[in-house]
Amino acid sequence: MHDMHDRWPQASSVDDFRHNLAAVHARIQAACQRVGRDPSTVQLLPVSKTKPEQSLRLAYAAGCRQLGENKVQEAYQKWESMQDLEDIQWSVIGHLQTNKAKLVARFATEFQALDSLRVAEALERRLQEYGRSLDVYIQVNTSGEESKYGLPPEQVADFLQALPNFSALRVRGLMTLAVFSAEAEQVRRCFILLRNLRDQLRQSAPAGIQLDELSMGMSGDFEIAIEEGATLVRVGQAIFGARATPDSFYWPSQNGTAATKTSPLP
Ligand SMILES: *Cc1c(COP(=O)(O)O)cnc(C)c1O
Repeated sequence: MHDMHDRWPQASSVDDFRHNLAAVHARIQAACQRVGRDPSTVQLLPVSKTKPEQSLRLAYAAGCRQLGENKVQEAYQKWESMQDLEDIQWSVIGHLQTNKAKLVARFATEFQALDSLRVAEALERRLQEYGRSLDVYIQVNTSGEESKYGLPPEQVADFLQALPNFSALRVRGLMTLAVFSAEAEQVRRCFILLRNLRDQLRQSAPAGIQLDELSMGMSGDFEIAIEEGATLVRVGQAIFGARATPDSFYWPSQNGTAATKTSPLP
């Protein structure tokens, strides 16, 4: 296996960011070409979690106008200290506790990890208060790992039925994290599951609930996700450089040991 720090060197100048963004876009294009998709149907969300404000400002200078953050508190602090960059949109892509819904409602334009009615209710209440609305994705646990957040696939249909009650939430589609595996076929299976689920739910979704988007794929597996229909890929390390924080900080594994992501190599 490659060492992550060799594979994803730190981006420390605007040029580094331009270079990395161009490389990711080229890989998106190549993946699209393999399956006959139009690259304009795949949106890139740069993920800036754990990176300092200075890095985010370089990414901005290189053209990034939307940033993904996993932890609400960290995202909120970055939003506060970067108020001078008025046209950045913040996407919260990690699990949310109801007591932090207030923060998300305050500053985020998108929330990708909706997986409970309690969180939907908490967001709705605060959004109404602030006179804001929020794009949301429903997170689905496609790997069956207990350590992963998200609704089990079989519960998503019922969940969707309740969502028209939340007028401040605009449902965009489904989101998932694939299994952490070096075996591409296992990763692919998660993405196929999400796409099939979306196609099936489109038939039964209540009026006004759009399920156009599939948010799936990260630095190590986004090409597979695109081959399987991703319309949005969330890419951190391939743009910003490797993270020092282990992924187990974001997706705690059951036994408490670090769940090292061994990505399938392209
Ligand atoms: C960190 C994160 C990503 C991006 O992962 P990289 O390996 O940095 O590309 C994508 N999705 C979620 C939910 C994340 O927390």
